[in-house]
Amino acid sequence: MSDLSSKLVVVSGPSGAGKDTIVSRLLGMDSDFSLSVSATTRAPRGDEVDGKNYYFLSTEDFLSKIENDAFIEYAKYGSNYYGTLKSDVEQRIRNGKTVILVIEVNGAANIKRLYPGALSIFIMPPSSEVLENRLRKRQTDSEDAIIKRLDIAKTEISRSTDYDYIVINDDLDRAVAEAHEIIKRTQK
Ligand code: 5GP
Repeated sequence: MSDLSSKLVVVSGPSGAGKDTIVSRLLGMDSDFSLSVSATTRAPRGDEVDGKNYYFLSTEDFLSKIENDAFIEYAKYGSNYYGTLKSDVEQRIRNGKTVILVIEVNGAANIKRLYPGALSIFIMPPSSEVLENRLRKRQTDSEDAIIKRLDIAKTEISRSTDYDYIVINDDLDRAVAEAHEIIKRTQK
């Protein structure tokens, strides 16, 4: 799939930075875009739907997919596995879409290594206070999970300079417009 690099857009950012909101706005405003649906071993949160937000798998099923080379990349984040499915991405590209991958930093680095032409964007929270407040407001994670996510966030932010672009989510409308402009300008 190396010639398909130009159809891949990798979006990362700490949990709570607002990347899912930005990406869902991008998908709503531009029908050229399609979201890669990853597989994960974590449990569904809130109103998440299997096959729409993620394919929710048992650890056993996830490991068997690794064995079968079903992933373009996969990574462990906290205590769960997450992976980009080859079949899912290939299908979307065949449908003529620019595929957006919302993945953590190790997976993003792997995608850049495999597909150097892929565009990478890091969504940055305006401050660490804002990030912590957003995570606490969600009220879907335990205190332990929040602390783990804040700790991972620090490491992730330290790797933001590896990305082609950093978009600061200080104002949602502005950040969405900036991300959209970057993708349109660079993905020909
Ligand atoms: P969450 O549990 O908040 O949905 O996701 C945790 C982290 O895993 C987020 O940074 C998310 O972007 C990342 N993630 C989701 N899917 C994938 C994937 O397929 N591969 C990798 N490497 N990370 C993923």
